[in-house]
Amino acid sequence: MQYVFDFTEGSKDQRDLLGGKGANLAEMTSLGLPVPPGFTISTKACRTYLATGREPDGLADEIEWHLSGLESGMGKRLGDATDPLLVSVRSGAKFSMPGMMDTVLNVGLTDTSVEGLAAVAGDERFAWDSYRRLIQMFGKTVLGVDGEHFDKALEARKHARGASSDVDLDVADLHELVAEFKEIVRRESDVDFPQDPREQLDRAIHAVFESWNTERARIYRRQERIPDDLGTAVNVVAMVFGNLGPDSGTGVAFTRDPATGEQGVYGDYLPNAQGEDVVAGIRNTLALAELERLDKASYDQLLDIMETLEKHYRDLCDIEFTIERGKLWMLQTRVGKRTAAAAFRIAGQLVDEGLIDADEALSRVTGAQLAQLMFPQFDPAAARTAIARGMAASPGAAVGRAAFDSATAVEWAQRGDDVILVRRETNPDDLRGMVASRGVLTSRGGKTSHAAVVARGMGRTCVVGVEALRVDPRAREFTTPDGARVAEGDVISIDGGTGEVFLGEVPVVPSAVVDALYGDAAPSAPTGPSTAADGARQEVVDAVLRLMRHADDRRRMEVRANADTGEDARRARDLGAAGIGLCRTEHMFLGARRKIVEHVILARTPEQRDAGLDELRPLQRADFTEILEAMDGHPVTIRLLDPPLHEFLPDITDLSVRVAVGDATGSPDQEAAALLAEVQRLHEQNPMLGMRGVRLGLVVPGLFQLQVRAIAEAAASLLARGLDPRPQIMVPLVAAVQELEAIRDMAEATVAEVAAETGTELRFPIGTMIELPRAAMTAHEIAEAAEFFSFGTNDLTQTTWGFSRDDVEATFFPAYLERGIFGVSPFESLDADGVGRLVSIAAWEGKETRGDLELGVCGEHGGDPDSIHFFESIKLDYVSCSPFRVPVARLEAGRAAL
Ligand code: PEP
Ligand code: MG
Repeated sequence: MQYVFDFTEGSKDQRDLLGGKGANLAEMTSLGLPVPPGFTISTKACRTYLATGREPDGLADEIEWHLSGLESGMGKRLGDATDPLLVSVRSGAKFSMPGMMDTVLNVGLTDTSVEGLAAVAGDERFAWDSYRRLIQMFGKTVLGVDGEHFDKALEARKHARGASSDVDLDVADLHELVAEFKEIVRRESDVDFPQDPREQLDRAIHAVFESWNTERARIYRRQERIPDDLGTAVNVVAMVFGNLGPDSGTGVAFTRDPATGEQGVYGDYLPNAQGEDVVAGIRNTLALAELERLDKASYDQLLDIMETLEKHYRDLCDIEFTIERGKLWMLQTRVGKRTAAAAFRIAGQLVDEGLIDADEALSRVTGAQLAQLMFPQFDPAAARTAIARGMAASPGAAVGRAAFDSATAVEWAQRGDDVILVRRETNPDDLRGMVASRGVLTSRGGKTSHAAVVARGMGRTCVVGVEALRVDPRAREFTTPDGARVAEGDVISIDGGTGEVFLGEVPVVPSAVVDALYGDAAPSAPTGPSTAADGARQEVVDAVLRLMRHADDRRRMEVRANADTGEDARRARDLGAAGIGLCRTEHMFLGARRKIVEHVILARTPEQRDAGLDELRPLQRADFTEILEAMDGHPVTIRLLDPPLHEFLPDITDLSVRVAVGDATGSPDQEAAALLAEVQRLHEQNPMLGMRGVRLGLVVPGLFQLQVRAIAEAAASLLARGLDPRPQIMVPLVAAVQELEAIRDMAEATVAEVAAETGTELRFPIGTMIELPRAAMTAHEIAEAAEFFSFGTNDLTQTTWGFSRDDVEATFFPAYLERGIFGVSPFESLDADGVGRLVSIAAWEGKETRGDLELGVCGEHGGDPDSIHFFESIKLDYVSCSPFRVPVARLEAGRAAL
């Protein structure tokens, strides 16, 4: 087993083994660029070290061997008394974890070699400054001494000398600082600063291995979804010095602007300094262009190298370099991080420059980046301070007056005010208020709470679970942790991308990308850019449209939308949806209509029930007509009524109060008492596992039939008008084929009746949601009665994990995320191993029964990038998501098919 690799051995494709830094140093070495010589100890060695607590066998010898090679190449020995070789020991994992792990510079300096360095460099001050840096870094990183002690000693010395910067300290000061630093090490760690260079090297290597598991590194990995078991490589590199005087320095550079994507050379340069000075912001850096004036030869060489790197990597690169007495050295390069806007713009530019093809460009942008560009944002230049932070549930920036109930929100919106609806949590009654508001803020609930799901569906900005806010709907106010009070009508701003809440109005800028995506369906005449910023924005928009078109060409899966109003359907179509994958019919039974449904459910006679149903039918027919018309020529999957029974029953507490008040005042309310008895009889402890979906349809006769009839009548009337309605009837919460068969028989008979009555030919696909494990496990049978499956991954996740989707995100999910039981909520990104396995088994078995079974997904996961890649891998026919996520899903479905 080889653990150590010379820079001349590796390549950029070996990031797994050599880490990003090591792989790229090797790549630059093989490109003939000026990289200081060195070697990389592999991530494999780190993994073994972390697992066993000691170096793998043979590592010490390998290091010795490579070190000798380095020494003979440099003509110096590590820590030699007269002309010492010094090395840096740098971390470098497969994925960049900036600043999260450790690095030790100047390894090899000792009480004797510092004199040698001083003599060779002809600069005593430099040598002693390097030595004090080593003791400081080694003390902190390897020996675990609190850095404060060193900082304080340094500050005290500067203060004593009246120096404002450490450059102002002289040799005598540094001598004393070194003595003080060594004393700090002895006092704080009980050992002397080691004077054996090889011991320094070994201990620094171990410290870098161990820094993989520091708390900050672990937290960072969790956030970035980087696996915990990769380990870091360690790079041992011959030191070059940027702090050898005014003709030395160090800097960072980008081959394009990572913020805007603008072409050109960007960066910072700090003369007479070592790398950590730039990062620490100790002194103000110069713009890279200044280097041209200071050292034109190095500057020109750097530009040449940057061009070489960009052509070679075919992407934006970021670079760290050092100039030692006029000689340029490359210390690092990598493909640079960039903003969402820059990602699209650069991808477009690189295609134009012939460096990459359209597929490659598509692979370099993500749905998450597109989503960022699709929402209005707070003006980045505007000053603001957050008063609290919750969960970012639905992106965007919203400003408005706080309203504490739905009716107020609607009223104010009607008179033209922008409103933010503030609730502890929302329920279906808040729907009108949510529709009327710019944004929704709740103090409870998680990312799949009612507020979050509905707001995402409507494209409303939403922040949920801001537990620090005390929302008092009665007093119509909320208070912040600092005691600030926000009363009804006060203006607040919420950022659905970060979860932040602000007092007052923060200025918002709209999304040019959304305008363009809508416009793309019906192109309008472009107006020429007027300023450079407009030009840049236009270039981003053009790149987005171009990559979207390419994604559409490439993708295999269709993208449909979850929409249940004509307006949503039209929006979805404008954003490129090829149909409706889920039309929820619940909201069609709320408001004034709820009372009618209540009558239907509580009817004592068939006549009473039929009267209620007759009242509902024309209303439903109008609902379906509007949606089918808006999606003319495209499939519209209408799901029969799903919500739990109690949502249609009178509130049990209100009723109990009515009965109690009647009894107490001596005039018993007979009607309320009878109703209460009935409601109590139907009361459920677990409504989500109770009488909902197909169960309600089977138990309350006429409800589903009414819906099927309304669909058939709507379709018949549209056909008569020469349109092309394509409804698909979907049965929710099926667990057994018998349930589906019963509804199917009823639906077929009803459609046939309407066909006969209207003299039209009507035939609609009838299918089911697969949202219970039993349905997935009996897909073979269920497919006998279903022409399509639509995976309801919200309920399937809920029932597979046994997690209540309305509660868990605010209760124990934070602890689960903290412990790494999962890296992301399974309600947000599909749990491929568990829930995904059920989906793929059901898809496979369903197809075995019925070769032309249509397969789609309509849970929230249909709009989640990672989940979309999974659905592509198991070859579903379509994903369906909220209208605003349709472009994201199109892009990701395209990327998934590459
Ligand atoms: C689902 O369960 O995934 C689904 C789409 O249905 P709902 O979210 O309405 O329960
Ligand atoms: Mg469901």
